[in-house]
Amino acid sequence: MRILEVLHMEPKIESIIDTFESRKKHMCIKGDDISIPDCNKATLPGTVTQRTCVFGGARIVLMPITDSLHLIHGPIGCASCTWDIRGSKSSRSNLYKKGCSTDMGEKDIIFGGERKLFETIIELNKLYNPGAIFVYATCVSGVIGDDIKAVCKKSEEITGIRIVPVQSEGFQDYNKTKGHWIGCDALLDYVIGTKELEKTTPYDINIVGEFNVAGDLWGIKPLFKEMGVNIISTITGDSYVDEIAQAHGAKLNIVQCQKSSNYLADKMEKKYGIPSIKVNFFGIKQTINSLRDVADFFDDEEMMERTEEIIKSGLNDVEHKIEEYKERLTGKTVALYVGGNKAWSLVRAFEELGMDVIMSGTKNGMKEDYERIKDTVRDGTVIVDDANSNELALLLKKYQPNLLISGAKEKYISLKLGIPFCDFNHDRISAFAGFNGFISFAKEVDASVSSPVFDLTSKKLMEQ
Ligand code: SF4
Repeated sequence: MRILEVLHMEPKIESIIDTFESRKKHMCIKGDDISIPDCNKATLPGTVTQRTCVFGGARIVLMPITDSLHLIHGPIGCASCTWDIRGSKSSRSNLYKKGCSTDMGEKDIIFGGERKLFETIIELNKLYNPGAIFVYATCVSGVIGDDIKAVCKKSEEITGIRIVPVQSEGFQDYNKTKGHWIGCDALLDYVIGTKELEKTTPYDINIVGEFNVAGDLWGIKPLFKEMGVNIISTITGDSYVDEIAQAHGAKLNIVQCQKSSNYLADKMEKKYGIPSIKVNFFGIKQTINSLRDVADFFDDEEMMERTEEIIKSGLNDVEHKIEEYKERLTGKTVALYVGGNKAWSLVRAFEELGMDVIMSGTKNGMKEDYERIKDTVRDGTVIVDDANSNELALLLKKYQPNLLISGAKEKYISLKLGIPFCDFNHDRISAFAGFNGFISFAKEVDASVSSPVFDLTSKKLMEQ
């Protein structure tokens, strides 16, 4: 009787769409009593979440180290479902794109896979002479208790290169964010601080949480070069492991993806005393603010002047080139279903195109991610946590945005409903960061939103 009374007294949660009772509180509208959805919870069994596992989270952080091999100690499926997962570009080595796995089978599971792992590391080193080999634990190698740390240590003594254990067993958590931290820990424990700086200047920085997806880094690097800032390492886009080994010598960390890499920046501050600044190079104002913040940090008059010159020339170029796109895009609506960082950091970039973000959601968002989304979007915006395919389709049908920004898993849900789609995750082919990136971004968004094909299909598909 008491339990029934308590249940009866719980506030009724308005359903945004027709879904399971326990899922309703994972969606809310900013401005209502509840402005942050329930989040960071295990997925409701049977609802077919689109989340990635902890191993996937670690792989995403480390995979862009281009001169290294990434060896997955587990059954072949773990390696194949994350092969080339990042869409990270390289200006030098392409070794990171090799798909390496110990391909564990029944025999290894019964008798243990350590010997096979050791032999694979030795053979890979002979074949490819990599900068390092990152060895990832998966569910199966974790369950049978293979000691990958011991195997890596022994292999390192024999090969003389860094063999880095990554304790990323997929089952550790329902949120891949833990995998990001495990990837960062592997760098902190085995790479950063293991090589003395080759060259120092008063303006040394690391770019942390920039993974060079589609070449984003190449839109940012020239700006810093013009400012007179020296980049020691990028963690981890388009990097070599030896560069990351020197990262402890920087005077400043600038953090681009604050979802995956605040953790690393905080730990580097504690361990090496390196302060950090949060930056965002998606959008004009955010690019300008980020450049000014770095110049302000170094407090150098000449650098500040050079930065203003860079901003002036960047602005002239962008404003002129996006005019045509902005004219067509003004007043259009957009739904974001992306990583925790992009779910708030892209909002201003769309506003600069005259567009209105009406929905923002993530698969693995934590409370702080949703706080930032809430603080960034306007009242009336739908905020969604861990929506499955069916829920996403219902939300798109109900709110009918002019564009969905998401990743490969959501692409066909959107297109089948006749809603224009733009990839902002790992599979995109255009770089969107910095001034030039914003021009490509505007062009790509316009190409999707203004495509005449959607005028022919949208209504019919929505009605089905
Ligand atoms: S680590 Fe585990 S959850 Fe992740 S892909 Fe492999 S088996 Fe699946």
